[in-house]
Amino acid sequence: MKTSRTPNNWTNILFFSLTPLLAIAGIYWLYASGRGVPAATWVLTAIGLYATGLGITSGYHRLFAHKTYDAPWPIRLFFLVITSGSFEGSALEWSSDHRTHHRFVDTDKDPYNIKAGFWFAHIGWLFKRPSPPLLYDNVTDLLRDPLIRFQHRYYIPLAILVSFGIPTLIASLWGDPWGGFFVAGVTRMVFNHHATFCINSVCHYLGTQPYSDRHTGRDSWITAIFTYGEGYHNYHHEFPGDYRNGIRAWHWDPGKWLIYGLKKVGLARNLKKVQPDRIFQARLEMDEKKLVQKLATHPGLAKIDWHHLVSKNRQRLIDAHAHFLKLKQDYKRLKSEKMDYVADQMEKVHAEIQKARENFERSLTEWRMLLRNPVVA
Ligand SMILES: [Zn+2]
Ligand SMILES: [Zn+2]
Repeated sequence: MKTSRTPNNWTNILFFSLTPLLAIAGIYWLYASGRGVPAATWVLTAIGLYATGLGITSGYHRLFAHKTYDAPWPIRLFFLVITSGSFEGSALEWSSDHRTHHRFVDTDKDPYNIKAGFWFAHIGWLFKRPSPPLLYDNVTDLLRDPLIRFQHRYYIPLAILVSFGIPTLIASLWGDPWGGFFVAGVTRMVFNHHATFCINSVCHYLGTQPYSDRHTGRDSWITAIFTYGEGYHNYHHEFPGDYRNGIRAWHWDPGKWLIYGLKKVGLARNLKKVQPDRIFQARLEMDEKKLVQKLATHPGLAKIDWHHLVSKNRQRLIDAHAHFLKLKQDYKRLKSEKMDYVADQMEKVHAEIQKARENFERSLTEWRMLLRNPVVA
């Protein structure tokens, strides 16, 4: 398939092909020569893996590319320096490609277009040069930040220093500079490459589409585990301005926990969240779409007014949800007033919330039954 990336990028081809070989050869040599790799070096590797991975998700992705929250300069600088160690380009290049990905997802203009094949979306796109070259016209806001300009300008020396120099130096403290270089440096970088590349390949390939089928982004808790929480990619493509990818408390999303933790200690602010009723509506619309498709292919249903049945159920569920959310807001407001005379009111609202929750849950169960077995319902 034709894409907007054509001439070969030989630097990238050699870099992304030779570094995995160097990692394997290095580890083989460490063990074959009897040096081995001490536990401290493996711990350093794990820390480095998560630091550079979260640098990509919480820093490059959610702070710079999508601006889902604001952070003071020491945090921006920290993310810019630590993420240089992921060797995935400067924040400016990364964000420019990523904004284009969201804008033109699944088309020839998408830099990592999944429709051009799994391999292309994973790594093949890096083997080609963008044509025409990146103009950075979609990241002019980022260009105003002197720290981002600094990282872009000195990207290669910074990346070499953070990716290989620092792990080598740290591991020298326990007498293992070669383990620091080959394991905490090269191997860690290769693992991190493929973990984050999976966001462009596996996250557009494997999983469900609960919020939209207008794009190929998919939700999967399995991919969330090895992509630092970016596996809820259907949600992310539908609501890219949300600082979370996994919106439920139990969704594995260390990126969101880090951002929330930074907010708690005053190092992040203006965390953006999509309103629950909008998320709920998107989900219901998608449910309804799937249901209509299911019903349309079912023989003998032509005479049943199922369209009316579906919209009646959906509306009842939306009303129940909206009522429940409103009562919750009322309760929160009353609680913040902290006046004696509101105590009675609070009790009343609390009882109403219970009823509204039961009503909502009943409507939701009916909706789910309708989805599972529309013919009987
Ligand atoms: Zn995507
Ligand atoms: Zn994104």
